[in-house]
Amino acid sequence: MTDADAPQLRAEALEALLIEKGLLTSDLVDKVITRYSERVGPMNGAKLVARAWREPEFRKALLEDATSVVTEYGFEGGEVQKLVVVENTPEVHNAVVCTLCSCYPWAVLGLPPRWYKDPAYRSRIVSEPREVLREMGVSLREEMEVRVWDSSAEVRYMVLPMPPEGSENLSLEELQSLVTRDSMIGVETL
Ligand code: FE
Repeated sequence: MTDADAPQLRAEALEALLIEKGLLTSDLVDKVITRYSERVGPMNGAKLVARAWREPEFRKALLEDATSVVTEYGFEGGEVQKLVVVENTPEVHNAVVCTLCSCYPWAVLGLPPRWYKDPAYRSRIVSEPREVLREMGVSLREEMEVRVWDSSAEVRYMVLPMPPEGSENLSLEELQSLVTRDSMIGVETL
């Protein structure tokens, strides 16, 4: 597969399943899933994050109107008809959930991880966010505010994480490679 095939991936997977029901190799399914979850999606989000760290004007545009920014980039994958990017700061930590189901910005983050769809995550990140974040490896200072954003069919969210310490002199590509999917959901700090 080439990069140009990305928009058809989900359709292709469905088509293959329908046509070859029972004959489809798990190898192909694995390749499709890997592509969406580890390469296409989060790489797109990481591009936005790294550029926002470097270019104040771009950061401003991303925080004000992420939908326009992703439309300009033309990312494939969908589910970003209305995208809102929320920024982590030394005072505020953001995390994203869909309490109803699993709404998620596919074009910038790829496939939602299994735990994102787990009823335990969906309820507990709202009722006890600090505890859940601590369990997932995010330790927040007592005085920090935690904001949890509930995604829906109408609005999808992505977190702009804080850059890791000591990353000031890295290239844009190096910065991108540091940005993880989980940091853009808000359940990891870099
Ligand atoms: Fe949902």
